[in-house]
Amino acid sequence: MVTETAPAQAQNEVSAKIWQVLETVVDPEIPVLTIVDLGIARDVRMDGDRAIVSITPTYTGCPAMDTIKADILTALCDHGFNSAVVETVVSPAWTTDWMSADGRRKLEDYGISPPGEVRCPQCGSSETECLSEFGSTACKALYRCITCREPFDHFKCI
Ligand SMILES: [Zn+2]
Repeated sequence: MVTETAPAQAQNEVSAKIWQVLETVVDPEIPVLTIVDLGIARDVRMDGDRAIVSITPTYTGCPAMDTIKADILTALCDHGFNSAVVETVVSPAWTTDWMSADGRRKLEDYGISPPGEVRCPQCGSSETECLSEFGSTACKALYRCITCREPFDHFKCI
């Protein structure tokens, strides 16, 4: 009788390694955030010697997703996972709640106000006005701070 414990443990180690690789993949639009920070990477598993990564797009039709998929496959290949598949899972839909606390802080440091309350990343004022629902990308809206007059991108709440 062969014990099942050893292979299960090996699986966990492989999964942990895949997660480490995913933490090196950044969002092409917001290069300070990894796909793990954003909560885009949902699940990893092994099917034989093939790595399967499930991702959920932040925004339906966000063109960055193709880049992200290609970046995941490249990063996995660089780390010895030559056979990998990226699956897109659209249900349940991504929400800004999946973004890590670390991710929100990094977003603010980068000069984009995190989802939720709209606050000026320059001076912290909540006196803001929306200039355009579409900022530099479809995922962001353009706001201006009424206190310091600085325009800034706000990551849209979905
Ligand atoms: Zn301000």
